[in-house]
Amino acid sequence: MQKTRIYELAKELGISSKEMVEFLDDLGADVRNHMSTVDDDVAELIREHFQGEDVEEQLEETKAPRRRSGKRRQKRQRTNAASAQSQDAQSSEDEKVVVLPKTITVRELAEKLKMRPAELIKKLMELGVMAGINQVVDFTAAEEVATKAGFLVLPEEAETKIGFDKMAVDAEKLEPRPPVVTILGHVDHGKTTLLDAIRQTKVTETEAGGITQHIGAYQVEVQGKKITFLDTPGHEAFTEMRARGAQVTDIAILVVAADDGIMPQTVEAINHAKAAKVPIIVAINKSDKPTANPDRVKQQLTEYGLVPDDWGGDTVTVNVSALKREGLDNLLEMILLVAEMEDFRADPYRPALGTVIEAELDKGRGPVATVLIRQGTLKPGDYIVSGAVAGKVRALLDHRGQRLNSAGPSTPVQVLGLFDVPEAGDTFEVVGSAKEAKDLAEKRQQERQTEDWRSTRLTLSDLYHRVKEGSVKELRLIVKADVQGSVEALVSSLQKLATDEVRVSVIHSGTGGITESDVNLADASDGIIIGFNVRPDAAARRAAEQKGIDIRLHRVIYEALDEITAAMEGLLEPTYKEVELGQAEVRETFKVPKVGVVAGCYVKSGKITRNAKARVIRDNVVIFDGQVSSLRRFKDDVREVGTGYECGIGLENFQDVKPGDIIETYALEEVKRTLN
Ligand code: GDP
Repeated sequence: MQKTRIYELAKELGISSKEMVEFLDDLGADVRNHMSTVDDDVAELIREHFQGEDVEEQLEETKAPRRRSGKRRQKRQRTNAASAQSQDAQSSEDEKVVVLPKTITVRELAEKLKMRPAELIKKLMELGVMAGINQVVDFTAAEEVATKAGFLVLPEEAETKIGFDKMAVDAEKLEPRPPVVTILGHVDHGKTTLLDAIRQTKVTETEAGGITQHIGAYQVEVQGKKITFLDTPGHEAFTEMRARGAQVTDIAILVVAADDGIMPQTVEAINHAKAAKVPIIVAINKSDKPTANPDRVKQQLTEYGLVPDDWGGDTVTVNVSALKREGLDNLLEMILLVAEMEDFRADPYRPALGTVIEAELDKGRGPVATVLIRQGTLKPGDYIVSGAVAGKVRALLDHRGQRLNSAGPSTPVQVLGLFDVPEAGDTFEVVGSAKEAKDLAEKRQQERQTEDWRSTRLTLSDLYHRVKEGSVKELRLIVKADVQGSVEALVSSLQKLATDEVRVSVIHSGTGGITESDVNLADASDGIIIGFNVRPDAAARRAAEQKGIDIRLHRVIYEALDEITAAMEGLLEPTYKEVELGQAEVRETFKVPKVGVVAGCYVKSGKITRNAKARVIRDNVVIFDGQVSSLRRFKDDVREVGTGYECGIGLENFQDVKPGDIIETYALEEVKRTLN
């Protein structure tokens, strides 16, 4: 029996593929996507159905129950988690949501929780947190009070990312926006040639001479619809951006040379795209070559879970020749189809916000940044902040060097008027005034200086806690080994370690040393790298160090497995080693008003530091273990006192110190546990 493709049928009937898929889906038909096929007799029934009656009405009927079932929202959530989150918050009125920063003053927290400050202070005290109205409490305390008061707590994203409030969009105002596409694939498979071919054949030439400029991205128009291409091919840039919290790509085009087939970087690219949950379209390139073997490529793709649509799967594959410029229209059409199915939307009416994709200092024009608008519309005269840099838009230029009066969602645009050069991956947003821009930029500058990358990194030793507190439900691993056999053995054994509480997913695996690209992927996905008989190269080592990525190296498979098991069971919790700092002998004691008993001491060894942990030893027996609360030399508060000096030591919650006692101070140092 003949079969008809759904998208072709939809085209014929003048409705969108998305609507057609939804219609069939509601009928209970098993359709995966627009590339799926239906038997001809079914197609005939569909034709009758749509042609005979009022199509609009039909569609309204079929769409309504889907909205109720929430399926549409789920889809949007996947493509744009942040905006969907905010929609959720708005839609469920009975759920109170509060966004909390890393630290907050009691006054601000009271306002957010709509509580009287006195009441809040009491609640905090019940938790053992003593804080006055102008004092600052940390996230954990604030969260606990808020949760008890019935709030759903969301952590405020790091300032460099787009905050929850900022991303809040009005669901009513969402309009379709062009997809943003990145080209990935193995070196020499034709990524650059393909990007250039599309640019040169599709960018509308203008009277200005049609000179296209490299600004980091360009847009083409196909069948009246736009597609945005990011100009830096390869997964390195893609993952680097993602690691910075800026996932801008909507669709990945995986270029595979038909004469060469799937190569190591192809596999990396597949895994990077999958980790980013971005749909993949495969462009089988160099099909002009006599040695081209597209079927072999398709066969190989199936081994990586990408089953071509004409083989019954749902991965769109297109044969192209970037060199001869063949198959490009088909590829672009497929991009539009996938975009339609994914239903990318944004609100063009709000103040603009976006991501910096390239930035440089231009001799004549000053700092120039190419930004990709994600929400809203940017206009000259807007006050802006990009990363920690403020500015005012002096001019907007497109990829043909033409001045624009405005730039809407998914438009890449060069912005002139920033006071300094921001970094690629920084957010970019419009604020209300020059002062607001300056203040926000300064605040971020400060934050960046104090930002501690490590604090948010998942390491094996804190896995157990993070699983228990619910912040980690999936352990993402990158597995590298010396030979394919070991990779396979390790991957399959690791996957079996999953428990009810934590899934184990290997987001990338391969043979060879650990590279910077592996570290970037771990960074972007909050993953851990396991190396078996391999080592990180210098660049990878440096990047891992800088980003706080946990790399575990093993030479025996069961040791690697044991280590992960131990981590999941909390047996890898950090252990502490005590380090003695100093000893002081108590010579006499004084009562000091408001402070309590102070011990006049002589430092016998090491040094005594303020706030150090301390124990009191009397006749070789530890009678108190606590902390130094005050430290003085004569009348002055000091930070530390060295051997041979006299000082006054106050101990927290201990008044019973006597002459002859020894005060010993110490510190606890974390001992990293590794099994190799
Ligand atoms: P990249 O490293 O993936 O960006 O690959 P390039 O775009 O630099 O292409 C690598 C080489 O393959 C160049 O010599 C291109 O001319 C050649 N090439 C790219 N696309 C095609 C194609 O469709 N057919 C043929 N025959 N050669 C191609």
